[in-house]
Amino acid sequence: MVPVLLAVQCCAMSRAGSYFSRRRGLAEFISAGPLASVLEELTRRLEEKGYCPSTIQGYVRAARHVTYSIERRQLARRDRTLPGLRRFARTHCASCRCPHRETAASANFYSCTPHLLPILIRAGLAPEPRRTPFADELAAYDKYMAEVKGLSEETRAIQRRALAPVLRALMPRGRFDPARMTGVALQSHVSTLAGTRSPHTVHRTVAIRDFLRFLQTRGIDTTKALAMLKGPKVVSPLSSRKALTMPQMRALLAPLMCREPLAMRDLAIVLLLGQVGLRRADVTRLTIHDFNGRAGILRVQRSKSRRAFELPVPDETREAILRYVRHGRPSVATPALFVAHAFPYDAGITTSAVSGLVARAFRRSGIEHLSNGAHVLRHTLATHLVAAKQPLKAIADVMRHRAIDTTVRYTRVDLDRLRAAVCPWPEETTDVQPGTT
Ligand SMILES: [Zn+2]
Repeated sequence: MVPVLLAVQCCAMSRAGSYFSRRRGLAEFISAGPLASVLEELTRRLEEKGYCPSTIQGYVRAARHVTYSIERRQLARRDRTLPGLRRFARTHCASCRCPHRETAASANFYSCTPHLLPILIRAGLAPEPRRTPFADELAAYDKYMAEVKGLSEETRAIQRRALAPVLRALMPRGRFDPARMTGVALQSHVSTLAGTRSPHTVHRTVAIRDFLRFLQTRGIDTTKALAMLKGPKVVSPLSSRKALTMPQMRALLAPLMCREPLAMRDLAIVLLLGQVGLRRADVTRLTIHDFNGRAGILRVQRSKSRRAFELPVPDETREAILRYVRHGRPSVATPALFVAHAFPYDAGITTSAVSGLVARAFRRSGIEHLSNGAHVLRHTLATHLVAAKQPLKAIADVMRHRAIDTTVRYTRVDLDRLRAAVCPWPEETTDVQPGTT
């Protein structure tokens, strides 16, 4: 009985193979070829995540080169990591000798690796990722930042990156020992950093202070260290964030007013930053379901304060988004509203890509400005609202700041300038003291 059953299974088309019903040979190779169970698991997971059939087909098609190469010992175990598989993706198609060989490089090859790798690890076919030192402490701290402080993933990543080297420097053996976080040790670490004029000094000092406060919540007394830790004076980054004038804003948008898909995307994003006051991370989180084009309402998910907001969108921004969605956005599986128009295609835009496109817009417009960062656009909006004498509370609502203090701090630098140049500051708000950063 058993051999008959096996024979039937070999000939039956697997779930993964069924995506290739038009290519019988390839379908059989995928159904019964090397590590078919891995391809089957990949298919199941992609289906669960709601990927469309053409994407699943593309991913399985790419993954079968990996499984074949593993089976034929052409892909070393140490290379079965995310960077290793991506290197393989870049080079394999040119030298593919697999059955039903393919020579065209495929974007799918690159995009499928994050889905494939966990399956390989669970099947024991790829090494477990190495545990970083202090992983537990950093994870607990991360949870604290997310749940107690409500910080976004982006902000938390900055804090984690700043803290990890401090822990390594203080505890070189990799074992966490709060007793080594004395004020003296921390102070000397910070002075060493300050001596090297490292741009990370401020971030690290802020991260250490915050981490010490976190340790207190776990019952570890860090009062002395906190008292002794007098970090370098935090220089306000706002001085480089002077707001753009209206003519500068128009000049920034002008080169983006064309029918090129990339320019359509960039225009919509620049307007969202400058007219709606979104942060970079807000832009990356938007999905096509968050935009109601008819009503001109945008739902901004999980912002820094982890709440969802519905924001009205000015007509110019609304039309720019609609134009991008209708004529510029490629049809891809990701639900992200703004997508990468470059390799690996099937991905939403990243925060660094948002910074990059803003910097590019500045270069093209020829505007001389101290900062060409994305944040300057949000700052411009706040400043113009202040100049329009909107009440601070209303501005705080638009900018989605929890505390009025933050709003005041945001607008401080330009308030001074506006006060001198534009109009006398209204009396009813003179009692609000600008905060210092
Ligand atoms: Zn191949």
